[in-house]
Amino acid sequence: MPQRRYPDPCPADPQPFPEFRKNMAPGGLATRRQLRARGLRPAGHDPVAQIRYWRHGWRLAFLYRLDLAQPVRPMTEGRWRAVDAMMRARRTCRQCGTERQYVIPASVGRCNVCDGVPGAQ
Ligand SMILES: [Zn+2]
Repeated sequence: MPQRRYPDPCPADPQPFPEFRKNMAPGGLATRRQLRARGLRPAGHDPVAQIRYWRHGWRLAFLYRLDLAQPVRPMTEGRWRAVDAMMRARRTCRQCGTERQYVIPASVGRCNVCDGVPGAQ
């Protein structure tokens, strides 16, 4: 039996966080993937329930309210600029400041050259 992954937002809150089995959840709820398939997003709202299902072990999926969901925001120039800047930062070594061709893992924190990887660029 898995532990409930979603922490109780307020222990004194009398509202339980319902859990359903697959295909047993009431209508009006959808997972993040199901929202996305309809071109919707949770829009900052927390999940209100979860589904427990078996797939190589027990898994949980959060359920969001369809009536609170909002349309996915289209990619604008500004959003693409933000994504570019984020990816550039992930490719830039914090030690030597060089932008590399690859994303530097945050767990390593520096490029292969600074990390002393033989034959690295
Ligand atoms: Zn470096």
